[in-house]
Amino acid sequence: MQKKITGIILAGGKGERAGGALPKQFILLNRKPLLLYSLEKFQANPLITDIVVVTLKKYISKVEALVKNNNIKKCCEIIEGGETRQESSFLGVGNAPSDTEYVVIHDSARPFVTHKMIEDTITAAIAIGSATTAIEETNTIARSSSSGLMEEVLERKYISIIQTPQAFRYDIIIEAHLLAKADAKSDFTDDAGLVLHYEHSERPIKIVAGHESNIKITNQLDFELAECILKNISK
Ligand code: C5P
Repeated sequence: MQKKITGIILAGGKGERAGGALPKQFILLNRKPLLLYSLEKFQANPLITDIVVVTLKKYISKVEALVKNNNIKKCCEIIEGGETRQESSFLGVGNAPSDTEYVVIHDSARPFVTHKMIEDTITAAIAIGSATTAIEETNTIARSSSSGLMEEVLERKYISIIQTPQAFRYDIIIEAHLLAKADAKSDFTDDAGLVLHYEHSERPIKIVAGHESNIKITNQLDFELAECILKNISK
């Protein structure tokens, strides 16, 4: 029987760093709002059964129109997000259909998510409970002091750059969010980090291959890079 797997698409950021009037998830990339790239991928993926979109209150009607006009039939909820990404994620997870077994959480600011990433994270979450995509670091990474002095070079082979999608068994992710709430913490920047923090000893998190092209669009340069990636993908 098909598992109930809900995609949670996070589009509740104000996108201030992108510098435009519109939050970045609604900015057009090749005439298509950024958010629509992830929505179409999750809609087309056969493992995803439902989609919850988390967005800003004033953009709910815009997302409703986007969903309707583009036949995103799996979308069952469009809800208002929170002040931080963690709060938006919690609201998304909490509003998933009640029989959800797994969730796949994804930043709408990453338009180049692939079916393989969605499937690999789900397979790993089914096997061990939690999974994230990531890529290897190619730069030298150092820890620095508050006074701007270099303190320690971290061993690169153990450094991963974490991406989304991330997939979790439902009980694991909801428990981690509830623990964070009880702890009055709201600034975790991703869900795997949240699970790692609260469930570290019992809950392994599998790292599966992301991709350099799975960029998170944050600033104007990222948009230009995204246009190049898009041209290459469609070749
Ligand atoms: O801010 P950041 O780039 O880390 O956001 C990652 C994703 O989380 C984006 O897709 C953004 O729309 C979403 N987000 C959210 N609610 C917030 C902040 C960010 O859904 N309050």
